[in-house]
Amino acid sequence: DDLQNQPQDAAYLQVLKQYFGYSKFRPMQWKIINSVLNEKRDNCVIMATGYGKSLCYQFPSVFTGRTTVVISPLISLMQDQVLGLKVANIDACFLGSAQENMKVVMENLMKGKYRVLYITPEFAEGGSGVISELNNKVGIDLIAIDEAHCVSQWGHDFRAAYRNLGKFRSSLPSIPVVALTATATMDVRKDICRSLHLKNAVITCTGFDRPNLFLTVGPKMGNPAYDLRTQLQDSINKQHLNGSIIIYCPTKKTTMDVAAAVKGIGISCLPYHAGLTNANRKEAHNQFINNKIKVVVATVAFGMGIDKPDVRKVIHYGAPKDIESYYQEIGRAGRDGLPSSCHVFYAEGDFNTSRFLLSKMTDVNFKKHKLKMLSKMQQYLGTAHCRRRLLLAHFESKSLEDIGGTENCCDNCRKRIENSRTQSYYDSKNWGIKPTIAPDEPLDYSKEARDLFGAIESLGGRFGITIPVMFLIGSSSQKVQKFLKFPGYGKGK
Ligand code: ADP
Repeated sequence: DDLQNQPQDAAYLQVLKQYFGYSKFRPMQWKIINSVLNEKRDNCVIMATGYGKSLCYQFPSVFTGRTTVVISPLISLMQDQVLGLKVANIDACFLGSAQENMKVVMENLMKGKYRVLYITPEFAEGGSGVISELNNKVGIDLIAIDEAHCVSQWGHDFRAAYRNLGKFRSSLPSIPVVALTATATMDVRKDICRSLHLKNAVITCTGFDRPNLFLTVGPKMGNPAYDLRTQLQDSINKQHLNGSIIIYCPTKKTTMDVAAAVKGIGISCLPYHAGLTNANRKEAHNQFINNKIKVVVATVAFGMGIDKPDVRKVIHYGAPKDIESYYQEIGRAGRDGLPSSCHVFYAEGDFNTSRFLLSKMTDVNFKKHKLKMLSKMQQYLGTAHCRRRLLLAHFESKSLEDIGGTENCCDNCRKRIENSRTQSYYDSKNWGIKPTIAPDEPLDYSKEARDLFGAIESLGGRFGITIPVMFLIGSSSQKVQKFLKFPGYGKGK
């Protein structure tokens, strides 16, 4: 199987080694590169984060000596990639409104100096002339569209300029297009192929599982310092250890409160949200990337393009907006493949704002879709079953039988394993009485709840919880003596 994933011709592997430093292609990488270089096919690539998407579009023109055009939504991300390529001795550049020395860059571009050209979707809208000229003068191997889920309003990051890339693509019909994303449901996938006018595209879809992420959920009491203490314990004790933490908050205000709390615990951190100045945000970003601070407390404005390999923990302080955003956000943890964890603190009321905003939406289908994503998230938070399986079931239609079930999967799986271990310990002791072990499945306590409310009503709602409970269990205590004849006495015996 591995042999099929590698080229027959050693020249490819030689370039791979010389420029990228790898001795083999990862499964799927070669399939995509081969279909572009040798078959000129369009591709739709859905690859889990950390799998190696960039190589798929960076390799072809390094091999041919022509140029690849990459469209990406974020300037900072493109600048990072240009820098990374230059370090590897691969010439690359960026064209867009933020570009200095535009004239020189253009000249070099048309002389064929750059293997990879990065542009924004906005540049592509007006720039198809430049790209055809480049194709005539130098030759373009492929147009890569990164973060392609931005074309779809069913996705979570819709960008209007992405929507117009279909036109751009049609104006350059003979150049293969590779659309890439890390998250896509069936709806988004279809939308990508349709709106980018992909022709008979090769579809590549890796699994979405990130086995190194441990998933947990817990209640949010509302006092960040108190809530976060256990999650941050390791960092308090071992500040020197490598690895960073991202804490996501739903609002700017929560971001500031939580950042203050984290600082109060004694951990270096900075806030990041759209209300800060550009300089402040850049500072937070840089300090985080360079390990000057341990934690960044951010709204979801912080994220796309965070390419830090050693984020050990992603914490959500407040319920994530929906299941797809959540998958994307935790994708930033553990990109180096080492064990990392993802925790959500939530309270029942967390969804009220989202629901309210959605209720104002006029597009009925879109509203329905968003509400579905939101209740999936709610289901994820409330489930007593494997969280990983629930999360992945949303993206993958195939059977998920082999997913999860280990101690390193999620809090629910770990609890189940610990319970069965305790159970067999008790069994082996043969103590006569069986201690109660927390059940794996949720239990229905609605009868008990109804009885309790019945008792409270029966007693006229005049007491705290103790008297109704004594009344329910039929206590013979003095305190409930005068209520023996009331309806419901002893009902919960
Ligand atoms: P993605 O964009 O899919 O999240 P990247 O392109 O950033 O992933 O690659 C993730 C990691 O995998 C990077 O550290 C990269 O160096 C590494 N990588 C990519 N391709 C290979 C390969 N063929 N062999 C070894 N490592 C690879």
